[in-house]
Amino acid sequence: MTKAYAALSPTTPLVPFEVDRREPGPSDVVVDLAFCGVCLSDIHQARDEWGGARFPMVPGHEMVGTVVRVGAAVKKFKVGDRAGVGCMVDSCRTCPSCQQDLEQFCQNGAAYSYNGTEMDRTTPTYGGYSKQVVATEAFVLKVSPKLDLAGSAPLLCAGITTWSPLRHWKAGRGQRVGVVGLGGLGHMAVKLAASLGCEVTMLSTSPAKEADARRLGAAQFALTSEKATFKRLAGSFDLILDTISAPHDYNAYLGLLKVNGTMVLLGVPPQPTPVAAFALIGGRRSLAGSLIGGIAETQELLDHCAAHDITSDVEVIPVQQVNQAYERMIKNDVKYRFVLDLATL
Ligand code: NAP
Ligand code: ZN
Ligand code: ZN
Repeated sequence: MTKAYAALSPTTPLVPFEVDRREPGPSDVVVDLAFCGVCLSDIHQARDEWGGARFPMVPGHEMVGTVVRVGAAVKKFKVGDRAGVGCMVDSCRTCPSCQQDLEQFCQNGAAYSYNGTEMDRTTPTYGGYSKQVVATEAFVLKVSPKLDLAGSAPLLCAGITTWSPLRHWKAGRGQRVGVVGLGGLGHMAVKLAASLGCEVTMLSTSPAKEADARRLGAAQFALTSEKATFKRLAGSFDLILDTISAPHDYNAYLGLLKVNGTMVLLGVPPQPTPVAAFALIGGRRSLAGSLIGGIAETQELLDHCAAHDITSDVEVIPVQQVNQAYERMIKNDVKYRFVLDLATL
């Protein structure tokens, strides 16, 4: 049995819990977890805001730790290596998406790290608010020992979720990128876009975050609560990454794109939002979405972060404070990712 923290229902706080981890098979890696990041998606799911939640639920998909056992056929890892597990623990590996390293779009449905099942479709998966995880080698990532371990945890979701669209839309030197919302995803988007040579503008509702945005790598900071911002920055950006989970008017933000610019939705507001055709037609603009990233791309991100010494700005807390952390995240009071210290479990 592995110690964990779980939500037993959508309306009750997380409590201490125990989960069974499987005996490692030939391709499995057993990771003793040191840290797990707290993503806003954990709250959405623990509170069943997306529907179909499975309880008991052990959230957490930003896991890092040390390999303690490997199956006989494992090639990539040995005992003592640092390792990470992100949002997925398996996929069908044969469909066209999987064959293109886009496991997040597995046409048979990937196995998510929690609030889902293994590919047998019956064994529930439990996430990283726990002491240990067992996953197949193909879905375990290498984490450089050069990086601060607690700060590396959020790379497994907040990092890859912002890296993938930057790479897909070929963000780089000479391009202007707007990042909407300075939270867990947003602060990684700023750091990563700046590291690729983009000129980054932070679009935020929080005046108090300006200094941090600039320290993280933003060249400009603009308040989206001020109408003047949308006039001043009209037609400015090649790419906008939108991380907001609250209702907001996409049309206003689309007006900030250059001709041929793209706005990518990463945040998940609870209700559908109307989009005016003219907001897209005038300027051949695109509105797109993006979901985490594939396994190879996640490794590419981790290697990029090791090469550029990039980690997340974290507030490390004991597991017992996870419920308070949820409340603080909802109040927009986090700089910029909570990470659970699993040694306290
Ligand atoms: P977070 O740390 O709470 O950050 C969200 C940010 O959005 C806040 O820091 C705030 O930035 C802004 N914001 C919050 N409430 C707002 C409001 N009422 N109006 C305007 N802006 C508001 O959350 P996160 O962990 O980054 O996650 C963000 C969203 O992405 C969630 O919906 C999550 O489920 C989703 N997500 C998606 C993927 C994917 O694959 N697409 C992966 C992970 C997470 P300012 O103070 O700067 O305005
Ligand atoms: Zn996440
Ligand atoms: Zn597949």
